Amino acid sequence: MKFTDEIKRRRTFGIISHPDAGKTTLTEKLLLFGGAIHEAGAVKSNKIKKGATSDFMEIERQRGISVATSVLAFEYDGVKINILDTPGHKDFAEDTFRTLTAVDSVIVVIDVAKGVEEQTEKLVEVCRMRNIPMIVFINKMDREGKDAFELLDEIEQKLNLSVTPLSFPIGMGYDFKGIYNIWEKNVNLFTGDPKKDIEDTIEISDLGGPELDKLIGEKAADNLRTELELAYGVYPEFDKDEYLSGNLQPVFFGSALNNFGVRELLDCFVSIAPTPRAKASEERTVQPDEKQFTGFVFKIHANMDPKHRDRLAFVKVVSGMFERNKPYLHVRQGKNFKFSSPNAFFAEKKEIVDVSYPGDIVGLHDTGNFKIGDTLTEGELLHYRGVPSFSPEHFRYINNADPMKTKQLEKGVDQLMDEGVAQLFTLEMNGRKVIGTVGALQFEVIQYRLEHEYGAKCTYENLNVYKATWVETKDPKSEEFKEFKRVKAKYLAHDKRGQLVFFADSQFSLQMTQQKYPSLKFHFTSEF
Ligand code: GDP
Repeated sequence: MKFTDEIKRRRTFGIISHPDAGKTTLTEKLLLFGGAIHEAGAVKSNKIKKGATSDFMEIERQRGISVATSVLAFEYDGVKINILDTPGHKDFAEDTFRTLTAVDSVIVVIDVAKGVEEQTEKLVEVCRMRNIPMIVFINKMDREGKDAFELLDEIEQKLNLSVTPLSFPIGMGYDFKGIYNIWEKNVNLFTGDPKKDIEDTIEISDLGGPELDKLIGEKAADNLRTELELAYGVYPEFDKDEYLSGNLQPVFFGSALNNFGVRELLDCFVSIAPTPRAKASEERTVQPDEKQFTGFVFKIHANMDPKHRDRLAFVKVVSGMFERNKPYLHVRQGKNFKFSSPNAFFAEKKEIVDVSYPGDIVGLHDTGNFKIGDTLTEGELLHYRGVPSFSPEHFRYINNADPMKTKQLEKGVDQLMDEGVAQLFTLEMNGRKVIGTVGALQFEVIQYRLEHEYGAKCTYENLNVYKATWVETKDPKSEEFKEFKRVKAKYLAHDKRGQLVFFADSQFSLQMTQQKYPSLKFHFTSEF
């Protein structure tokens, strides 16, 4: 197959949702369609379950599963689909944010009863800021939930999206009869049988005709006609370009558990979802069909076995072909590396591959050379942007609890930060180290992993910080900046790259500081 055809047949995306909306179930049904797995229950949930086991054991278990589910690839209808796993748990939101830098589109899963939830809001916002094309799947239609119009309204308002339904439910809960597929103009009746698939859809050429009444009963048919009329009146017609530029979000209804409405979603996805997109670097925008390979690291996974401290760096191929045993430039280090066993990912396994194409994810064995955000090229000095650090929300001093193991502690902390588990800050005033995380769970993870993987011990001390913000000044010599540095000396730190960070102890103090020093900018991500 030609190089450009390989690119055209790839779809790399992520599924985002609030925990429990049905992401795992939907993923599994998609894989079933692709023939990648053959039974339900094959995809393990990567959820952190509270309960019988202690949290960090649960995290280790989850880490094992998440290697397996990091990338799930399958073929459907001649299309190569890569699903990138995005943890739903809020303490791992940063992982998800970073993974979103490697997807070309997303599917947002929403629970029909719960509507738009907190995690959905946060994740969709990140996608919206990056103009990532989104398809919405409203799940659990077999249960009583919100009215379709009410939900579409809620999605528009809370998520700040502009939606248009491409399927429409006929009833819901006990009364759920099926869906009308606006995209394909047919009806799919709900039987509650998860094995049912494509053959059962019934083409409806004339919605006004008696055919529909016979199928779903007069009352439901009338109801559907009225609702569709309203929907056609209120929502814009689907426009692929608008969708691709992130301005219009098509919506599907269904029930993942019953494998209902999933085939419709998948067929539409395959036909409209973007092929691998161009990506901006600091120097220029790179097109996927350029001949030379370029890619970037968006995720690093440590080996769970402490005796083998190698890691797996996940590289998204942006342009060209990634080939086994070919030397590539690690731009930050200015060194060439060859990879003899790059991994490609399939449904539940990984395999060594010779060639990967734009849109694909390759897993590279790494002994500590990579950091999240690193760029690989065939020699060009490119720096991909867009794997920023996000302002952490939990802060603690980290102390060495075993003076004999200082080196191990430093190395461990260093590598864990490279993996993106948390962020390390150094206070300007006294050089003390502060760890900032998005979720409180990470402190346990760090402590546990330092001990089990690096043989080092740490303790924490609380630090009252509301948010860390990155400080930008146009003029480092200005009186205002100097005064800021003097007055706020106690609250200043540097991140790992040496960028200046301001620790605000409350929202109020952040506002006051912003007002007092109007020439300074306070950013919530490291990239500005
Ligand atoms: P995730 O946290 O988003 O990955 O959610 P899961 O896929 O694990 O689903 C959460 C729960 O919702 C599980 O108990 C599923 O069986 C259930 N579930 C998923 N889809 C549906 C559905 O369409 N209908 C119903 N009734 N339950 C569902």
